[in-house]
Amino acid sequence: MIWEKASAKINLTLDVVGKRDDGYHQVEMIMTMIDLADRISFEKIDEDDIILESNSGIVPNDEKNLIYKAASLLKSRFHIKQGIRIYLEKNIPVAAGLAGGSSDAAATFRGLNRVWQLALSDEQLMELGAEIGSDVPFCIKGGTALAMGRGEKIKMLDPIPAGWVVLAKLPISVSTKDIYQNLRYKEITKHPQTDKMIQALKTNDFRLIQNLLANVLEEVTFSLYPEVNYLHHEMKQFAENGVLMSGSGPTVYALVDKESKVNRIYNGLKGFCKQVYVVRLIGTPLDNSVQ
Ligand code: ATP
Repeated sequence: MIWEKASAKINLTLDVVGKRDDGYHQVEMIMTMIDLADRISFEKIDEDDIILESNSGIVPNDEKNLIYKAASLLKSRFHIKQGIRIYLEKNIPVAAGLAGGSSDAAATFRGLNRVWQLALSDEQLMELGAEIGSDVPFCIKGGTALAMGRGEKIKMLDPIPAGWVVLAKLPISVSTKDIYQNLRYKEITKHPQTDKMIQALKTNDFRLIQNLLANVLEEVTFSLYPEVNYLHHEMKQFAENGVLMSGSGPTVYALVDKESKVNRIYNGLKGFCKQVYVVRLIGTPLDNSVQ
């Protein structure tokens, strides 16, 4: 049996720069991995089947699960006759803007590449990943990266410096599709300064990274869910700067450079928000060649 870690991501920037003929929005977003992770085990079985189990009462255990989709795609594409039992230990909040499902799919590609000895490169896994979801290619390699197109075109960036993230999530689920459908991208007035953020990562300027955090979906989610706006406002009271909503929400986070500041933000939020997490940033990409 082998285990894979599936880490969540946060957006440092999220911009929408156009709409494509296929109906998808064209995005430009900088993402980075955080040390909040699901764990997934893979075990060969005799029956020619995919069996998925999990400790989550929320995510489906059938072909709707992105893990199942990833396993099924590899199995059929490479004519694998060997069955697999997969167990998901879910720790990442679901439908939270943290790409939990995409990261699970990416971990499944990495794990089954090892179990079934497919010897696929990261680039091949990323191409397969794009067939399952736009955020999957980023999650194959992790680190800090710029995602373009539907989100599937990845350019690796300098890793974000070491630091902490305080995440807070209200007990609501937000559908990414709903938020994009409510976005009027032509009316966006303030676009994130993506190039400046890339420079700030290059120069390791934590303060500038905090100041450049921006997400054009905040306005949409805040208007549909005023409680998320309130949470963002409260977080700013405690963190002062470096506060942003991740993805389409509802998770809001504070980027913190020093551990000594973390407790104040955590304690301040814990009073009215049940799900608060403190985790580290992981800017370095995964080394998938070590197997
Ligand atoms: P993103 O930031 O990429 O939009 P998200 O964090 O908002 O993702 P997910 O947690 O990935 O959202 O889940 C979104 C939906 O996908 C849920 O409704 C869930 O039922 C479904 N889903 C399928 N497979 C998984 C999985 N392995 N983990 C979580 N959700 C899954």
